[in-house]
Formats: sequence, C-alpha cells, structure tokens
Amino acid sequence: MKKFAFLWFQMFMFSWLTTNAQLKFDLPALGYAYSALEPHIDARTMEVHHSKHHRAYVDNLNKALPPNLPSTVTIEELLKTISQYSDAIRNNAGGHYNHSLFWKILTPGGSKAPAKRLNDAIIKSFGSMDSLYLLMASEGAKRFGSGWVWLCVDEKKNLFVMSTPNQDNPLMDIAERKGKPVIGIDVWEHAYYLKYENRRGDYLKEVWKALNWDVISALYDAAAPKGRFEDWPTIVAYHKVMAQTFHPSEEGNLSPIKARHKELSDRAQELLKAPIPAQFDSKEIRAAVKKLAVDSGKLSTSISKGAKDPDITKDLNQLHDTFHLIVGLCSNEEHEDH
Ligand code: MN
Repeated sequence: MKKFAFLWFQMFMFSWLTTNAQLKFDLPALGYAYSALEPHIDARTMEVHHSKHHRAYVDNLNKALPPNLPSTVTIEELLKTISQYSDAIRNNAGGHYNHSLFWKILTPGGSKAPAKRLNDAIIKSFGSMDSLYLLMASEGAKRFGSGWVWLCVDEKKNLFVMSTPNQDNPLMDIAERKGKPVIGIDVWEHAYYLKYENRRGDYLKEVWKALNWDVISALYDAAAPKGRFEDWPTIVAYHKVMAQTFHPSEEGNLSPIKARHKELSDRAQELLKAPIPAQFDSKEIRAAVKKLAVDSGKLSTSISKGAKDPDITKDLNQLHDTFHLIVGLCSNEEHEDH
C-alpha cells in the first residue's frame, strides 16, 4: 500500500512538473470592481473588456506559443524579440501586456497627480501636465483604426509620447521608437464604444481622470531609476584623491597635494574623457567637469613650478568648490525635495 502511494505521488509530481514546464500566461485580476471607474468608464465596458477581450488575448497567446518555449520566459522578454514570432503571438502577447498595464494604471482611488519626481520630468519634457494630456489626446485621436497611445521612458531616461497600431507596444523590437511604457491608453473602439460610441475624444478626456498616478509614478521610478554616485566610477576615483589631499590642506598640511598633484590632474583627465552616466548628463555638469579638468591641470603645473603655499591653498579650495558644484548638480536629480 505504501509503495503504491509513493508511486502515485511520483506520477502526480511528474505530471505536475511536465504541465508546468510549459509557458502559460494568466488573466490578471482587475484589483477593483467593474463599476469602480464609473462615471469615466462604465461597468459593462470594463466587464467585457477584461473578461472577454483580455481573456481572449491570454487564451490565444497560450495557444500560439511554441511548445518548446522555456517556462521562465517573461512577457517582456517575449516582446523584446517579437519579430522572431508569428503574427498571432505578436498580436496576443501585445494584447496581454498592454491590457495588464492598462488595468494597473486605472484607479478607483489613489493620487490624482504625479509624484514630484515624475511631475518635474513631465514639466521638463512637455512644459505642463495639460500639455502632456493634449499631446496624448491628440496622438490617441490621430491613431487610425485601433491602437494605443503611450507615455514612455527612453534609454536616456527621457519621457516621450507615441502611439502604436493594433496591439503593438514600445517594448517590441519592431516598434518605431523603443521605450518603457509608464502610461498606455487603449484607443480600440472596444475600450469606449458602449458609452462613448464614436466619440474617442470624449473617452480620452474621461479616461485621463481615471489614471492612477501613484502606480504611474512608481512605474516611472522603475523605468528611470534615480542616479547613484557609485555609477560614475571616474568621479569616485577623483574624489578619493581630492579628499586625501584637500582635507590635510585645511589643517595647513600641503605635503599630500604637493606629492599627488599629478595624480589628481590625471584623475581629472580620466573623468573628462569617460562618458558621463545618462542620469547625470547635463550641460551644467559637462561644463563643471571641464573646468575641474582644466583647473586640476593648472594646479599641477603651478606646483611643479614651485608655487607658493597660499596660492596652492587658494587653487585647491577652488577645485574643491568646483567638485562640490558637480556633486550638488548630481544630487538635484537624486533628491526629490530640491
Ligand atoms: Mn482593449
């Protein structure tokens, strides 16, 4: 009897493992009631959209997937290489990803405005929240037939707006412009026809009022992570020599800078030559780095020529100020409350 039970267990495990080894996607729960987005989006539209349309994308995707696809493949990975798959996979994988994002960024509650960091980025890229809305509404209205309108983050962490046809999206390798979506608005007729009929513009105006800015702000932070100083190794290397020479000079000890001025200048040259990480790259930072390199070189030359102690101290203080100007400019990006 015991042996039989063990055999049964083995067979159970085998079938469990083999069925689960195949990649399958699931319809995500909405997380709120179908009626929760009233009056902006009506309950019947939400119900049909989620339980019928999205369900069909998931089922058709699972049917279309090649059986040898590893179960560890994520939807994002699939989209990144979508050109290698059939149109059925392109349409349904897109449909699954796009709708999963859409449900997440809609809210029955939550914040009605973006967090400060995203708000700053929107103002920097579009001028104002109203301009962003008008641009997205116009892109959404212009999309002929069916598609989506997106707010995305590009590889330089800048925001941009685009629209895609059908169930394509900006993660796909076939996209006209690639980026990580933080807002995706469905402009298929099935998203609005029951309530708004042919008035896509009215729908776009109302759906904008139902956006969940807490979720969108979190998606933005994930797509455009805050800069970390450690991600800029040449400035960390410069800082090491600066700290070990400047701080003794504050105590009147100029021996370290007199011994290491050439090293400080070399580190500054390396800093100047290395690319500035995208999250820190700005006109001001580029100008300050150039000044740091020029002035580090000048200090080294003047020490080699036997400059007087007060002049060395003055120049080193100025270098230290320039260095901290760069640190300050970098941290503007790092801290929200500036
Ligand atoms: Mn849809």
